[in-house]
Amino acid sequence: MIKIENQAATDWRHELTQAIRTLPELAAQLALSPAQLPAAEQATAAFRLLVPRPFVARMQPGDPNDPLLRQVLADDIEMQPTAGYTTDPLDEGEHNPQKGLVHKYERRVLVITTGTCAVNCRYCFRRHFPYGDNQLAQKEWDSVVAYIQNHPEVNEVILSGGDPLMLKDSQLRQHVAAMEQLPQLKRLRIHSRLPVVIPSRIDRELLDWVRQTRLDVVFVYHANHANEIDDDIATGVANLKQAGATVLNQGVILKGVNDSVTAQVELSEALFAAGILPYYMFTLDPIEGGAHFDIPISEAQQLMGKVAEKLPGYLVPRLAKEIPGRPAKTLFSPKLSD
Ligand code: SF4
Repeated sequence: MIKIENQAATDWRHELTQAIRTLPELAAQLALSPAQLPAAEQATAAFRLLVPRPFVARMQPGDPNDPLLRQVLADDIEMQPTAGYTTDPLDEGEHNPQKGLVHKYERRVLVITTGTCAVNCRYCFRRHFPYGDNQLAQKEWDSVVAYIQNHPEVNEVILSGGDPLMLKDSQLRQHVAAMEQLPQLKRLRIHSRLPVVIPSRIDRELLDWVRQTRLDVVFVYHANHANEIDDDIATGVANLKQAGATVLNQGVILKGVNDSVTAQVELSEALFAAGILPYYMFTLDPIEGGAHFDIPISEAQQLMGKVAEKLPGYLVPRLAKEIPGRPAKTLFSPKLSD
């Protein structure tokens, strides 16, 4: 294992408690005056500001348009209703057969492990998800296991949320042990932004259960900009791979954050250098409050076409959109120049 330095000083639980929750504090950390940032009282009341310090440390001080800052900064523009943008853009309510479980695709199920995250991303497609109705008590995991057992075609479980890595490793270990008892299951996928915003989340306790499980473990990170990737993230990825896991990334095209050829090329290059393969680049799900981040699909196709002209194929993420009711993600071809 690559050395995990000074674990006590960088304990992820400590980082969580130290996360920034107010605009004046965020402004002070970035040497910005509060007047340079939107007051956004309504938007903050609707979806609170939450950003861990290791993520803030990767923002450029003095830049109110920093691409990492823009992802977490509330703006009252979120409160303006936009036609076609809804609270449940993926119709997940239609595929929620029982508490804590979303079953959209034939051979995999998604478990809503928790409603909490380490960071509140303003464009999140689950920012209005009824987590309160889906919070699984420890004993309710039994019903998740029973559901999977009754659906023998399911061979992969996706832990999602919220952020599944907000759970303690003792809980994760227990859930994984229950899944392992189902011979039909081959893979465990974990969708998480935590190792990006708090890299110390990839600690010894987590690596232990990843190493020990019989399931193939796939981590799908969520990073949208090259500036999010640093050496601490690369160390975590190296340790996960040494423990036998695969590490992929999925991102979202966000206006003003990464909707340029340079930003996309740099992101793929940075991911690969950190040991992560770019997997999907989604267009924004039409979530209420996120419309100002969206770009038309035709623009996204042109953008990814230009990206494809600069990168080898294995570094070009698949441009995709989730369209409710379809049996798989819908892929869009990059539009190449004539
Ligand atoms: S679920 Fe993911 S995208 Fe949504 S707020 Fe949490 S970390 Fe951000």
